[in-house]
Amino acid sequence: MAVHVDTTKCIGCGACVVTCPVEALELIDDIAVVNPKKCNNLGKCVVVCPTDALSLPNIPMSSEEERPSEAGAAFNLNEPLPTSIKDYAADHEQKINQNVPGDAGDSWSGVWIIIEYSNGKVAPVSWELLGEGRKLADAIGCGLSAVITGYQVDDVIPQAFAYGAEKVYVTDHPLLQDYRTEPYMEAITAMAAKYRPEIILMGATSMGRDVFPAVATRLQTGLTADCTVLGIDPETKILLQTRPAFGGNIMATILCKTSRPQMATVRPRVMEMPTQAEGRAGEVIREEFNFTESDFRTKVIEFIPSDARNAFLDKAEIIVSIGLGMGAQRNLVIAQELADALGATLAGSRGAVEAGWLNHDQLVGQTGVTVRPKVYIALGISGAIQHLVGMSTSDFIIAINNDPEAAIFSVANIGIVGDVLQIVPELTAEFKKRLQNGVIN
Ligand SMILES: Cc1cc2nc3c(=O)[nH]c(=O)nc-3n(C[C@H](O)[C@H](O)[C@H](O)COP(=O)(O)OP(=O)(O)OC[C@H]3O[C@@H](n4cnc5c(N)ncnc54)[C@H](O)[C@@H]3O)c2cc1C
Repeated sequence: MAVHVDTTKCIGCGACVVTCPVEALELIDDIAVVNPKKCNNLGKCVVVCPTDALSLPNIPMSSEEERPSEAGAAFNLNEPLPTSIKDYAADHEQKINQNVPGDAGDSWSGVWIIIEYSNGKVAPVSWELLGEGRKLADAIGCGLSAVITGYQVDDVIPQAFAYGAEKVYVTDHPLLQDYRTEPYMEAITAMAAKYRPEIILMGATSMGRDVFPAVATRLQTGLTADCTVLGIDPETKILLQTRPAFGGNIMATILCKTSRPQMATVRPRVMEMPTQAEGRAGEVIREEFNFTESDFRTKVIEFIPSDARNAFLDKAEIIVSIGLGMGAQRNLVIAQELADALGATLAGSRGAVEAGWLNHDQLVGQTGVTVRPKVYIALGISGAIQHLVGMSTSDFIIAINNDPEAAIFSVANIGIVGDVLQIVPELTAEFKKRLQNGVIN
């Protein structure tokens, strides 16, 4: 069944044609015509039609579906999730068609944090988000839940409670061992469609940036990537999603007013890490999926870890960061020696990455990683705003630059004006001497 067009009312304005997200409508002889094979009854055309010429077909619903419940107006919570991914897809499509789950409504409730777990480790941003999620849930007056998707994840459950989750939703399956977009997208989408949280957050990590757009597309809702500030509008209780825009020159606050869930990825190291309360417990809700390998188009052939120190740039406690002021790639050895002496991680500015001296995963700043180490040593970095947004919250910043006006000095605790090639070897020698003597202030 497709959207019905009352040809006596249609004025051929075309508003429905441009609004339809699946291109199911066209104008033929100035009358809207629906392609029933494409139409999925989302109803967006019905809303925009100025003459009420369009109407949704009457799809009968079961009594269970007509009765909204707190956690799922459209989905019966007592009903187990479909067991095969194909069943799920068909079931989900049908429910989307019948109930338009992307629309805002009272039945969407709760804040969900997606816990990123891979290769036996949880991305710390997940815990940072549970801390932030607590504030958002309190401001709304709703619950806070963690969602863990992966393989053999049981050890993570107590940690999620310790960091503040009241409920933990778990999908544990061998095919979720290595991250792949499709199974993760299917699992998260299915749980969100079933339990209808009003807000879902995930870290703006490689995984978050990959899977969240796919989930948002499936749920037909909006997504704000790379947020640095979150809040709740006190009147409407809508999520205020703030992120740098226009090259970091303005902060834009984005609202998702008409669709649910509201989805955002958040930069690691921007939100504070909450304290853990060991021994806390809550409800664990397990969802079963009978995925098979043939359900997915991609295969993991081999897992090649990148340089361990670079892989955890956002967690590094000491960072030696280089910029174009290093002059040439051959001079990097000077910075590396300083990093080795301090047990620091080497990173850098976009200038250094574009010069080919560093890999993109070593980039600090707006388009790279946000870092918050105990000590950040900037060598020959000018301090462009796009760099500063990624490191200015470091606990202690030391900058060396031969330009006394360089912007990096505006965020530095110690600024040294001079030539990096001369100063850094002296610093390294001094650090080594003091570390040997066990004294470093
Ligand atoms: C949309 C957008 C996103 C961006 N994202 C990022 C990002 O994520 N991260 C990022 O870093 N940049 C980013 N940039 C680029 C940013 O604007 C700067 O161009 C870049 O940070 C400059 O890198 P740099 O400081 O290494 O080089 P430069 O700006 O060229 O600075 C080199 C510095 O070295 C000093 N110097 C030179 N020789 C010496 C010496 N011998 N001893 C001591 N000091 C010396 C100079 O005085 C100068 O201050 C972005 C830009 C845009 C438009």
